[in-house]
Amino acid sequence: MAAIRLPHPGKIVRREEIGPCVDEDCGHTDCIQTRRMANRHCPVCGLIIGYEIPFYGIGDQLIHAACYTDPKPYRFDSRLPVNLSQA
Ligand SMILES: [Zn+2]
Ligand SMILES: [Zn+2]
Repeated sequence: MAAIRLPHPGKIVRREEIGPCVDEDCGHTDCIQTRRMANRHCPVCGLIIGYEIPFYGIGDQLIHAACYTDPKPYRFDSRLPVNLSQA
């Protein structure tokens, strides 16, 4: 399974714009779709998918590759202290 990585806004590779427009109101379908994916939340860590971070599309969920391969159980329960691993 290959991880997907969203190009950051305004990213240019070999003179080709591959990232969405920096202007959030550009109205391009591709840009809107990329921004929408970047703003989705990872069900494991609860953070947004973001740009330039590898993630997998599993079913209709987007999950960070790191969260998928190494899920930290404490992330699922916010009542537990985050520094549990240091206890
Ligand atoms: Zn655009
Ligand atoms: Zn995550």
